[in-house]
Amino acid sequence: MSFKSLGLRAELLRAVSEKGYTAPTPIQKQAIPYILEGRDLMGGAQTGTGKTAGFTLPLLHRLASKEVSQKGRRPIRALVLTPTRELAAQVADSVRDYGQHLSLRSAVVFGGVSINPQKQKLIKGVDVLIATPGRLLDHVGQKTADLSNIEILVLDEADRMLDMGFIHDIRRVLALLPKQKQTLLFSATFSKEIKQLSSGLLNSPALVEVATENTASDLVSQVVHPVDKSRKRELLSYLIGSNNWKQVLVFNRTKHSANRLAKQLESDGISAAAIHGNKSQGARTKALADFKLGKVRVLVATDIAARGLDISQLPHVVNFDLPNVAEDYVHRIGRTGRAGNEGEAMSLVCIDEHKLLRDIEKLIKRDIPKVVIDEFLPDPSIKAEPINTGRGQQQQRKSKPSRNKPSSKRGGSSPSSPYNGRSNNQGRSGNRARQSSRG
Ligand code: AMP
Repeated sequence: MSFKSLGLRAELLRAVSEKGYTAPTPIQKQAIPYILEGRDLMGGAQTGTGKTAGFTLPLLHRLASKEVSQKGRRPIRALVLTPTRELAAQVADSVRDYGQHLSLRSAVVFGGVSINPQKQKLIKGVDVLIATPGRLLDHVGQKTADLSNIEILVLDEADRMLDMGFIHDIRRVLALLPKQKQTLLFSATFSKEIKQLSSGLLNSPALVEVATENTASDLVSQVVHPVDKSRKRELLSYLIGSNNWKQVLVFNRTKHSANRLAKQLESDGISAAAIHGNKSQGARTKALADFKLGKVRVLVATDIAARGLDISQLPHVVNFDLPNVAEDYVHRIGRTGRAGNEGEAMSLVCIDEHKLLRDIEKLIKRDIPKVVIDEFLPDPSIKAEPINTGRGQQQQRKSKPSRNKPSSKRGGSSPSSPYNGRSNNQGRSGNRARQSSRG
């Protein structure tokens, strides 16, 4: 199937071909026809599937195909809500790129930066507004954004918006929109909360889902390095240094540990920057730009800040700790192995995280090879402790205690322990390593 056969306008086909896309991705094939028809849509797709073009192309097509009165300020006709500033900026880039041969105008507004340049842009009039919920409401309050003419609403990464506690802001925004509109909701997961939100919002929606959910790309090779919690930072520096990695995205569960890790890596002589929600937007943009340009070797990110990051040809992703939600593992490692490039995803896993690891392996329906680096052999006398989630509560692991304990012997016999292993001195990255027979 070609983009042309989807019935998109010539200006959009030109923009798509200038981007070098030859064929629509599965989510694009499925979603574009429904959106062009004017249907509401619920899309099960995550970043990396091409979902942004999946909604942006038909959205621009519909706006461009309908004349609006040219009297007065241009009304905002399409609104895209995103959970994070980075995703808002990326969607805005896509809207600009795909719409470059059309005469529609777009703007992006998010918090953490001065509101004044955004106001100037909105006052001139835009057709498409991409926004994070809080800053959008600021503009509404200051009368620089009028949402009463919205024809198309997109909720992008709706699950993440709810996870981040935006439900009240979203409801306030929804109350400002006309009843009659087309609504598109994209979410990587369909929780009870998402279903509740969509049932009140979507009108007989078409449901499209892409199979890539919870399946990692085959282009990403995955490995677990069992290690004691207290030695993770040392192991990370060792892996980066001994393999001479130039560009590594490292995931951390909490903002605090992301900051601390970036500082520690710097003190090990490895240039690093942290990116998370407590950083100013300027610092986040700079950290990402420096990382993309190769000025810093390591970008330490939390799940939320990294959601939606599209870094081309990113070779290495390291899970400094495992995410609390197994689906996030797939999102994390999906930052590498994109657009046909190969990538490596390594997880540094301590005894506390065995239950999380099993949940991940269950979700992705495969065992991840375990490679013990000789110098970082875990201490079998260390007992598992509850995990600090960074939200002021401890995650209580529900697994049987015996399965969480390491074997008393090194390379012991419990098949579920990542500490088991036979020696493999040619570890995949050239490290002296032990690889388990499970892998
Ligand atoms: P997204 O899931 O929207 O974040 O898109 C992921 C990446 O896929 C982005 O870098 C897009 O530029 C790229 N992309 C989107 N659609 C296509 C397509 N049809 N062919 C090739 N690459 C695409």
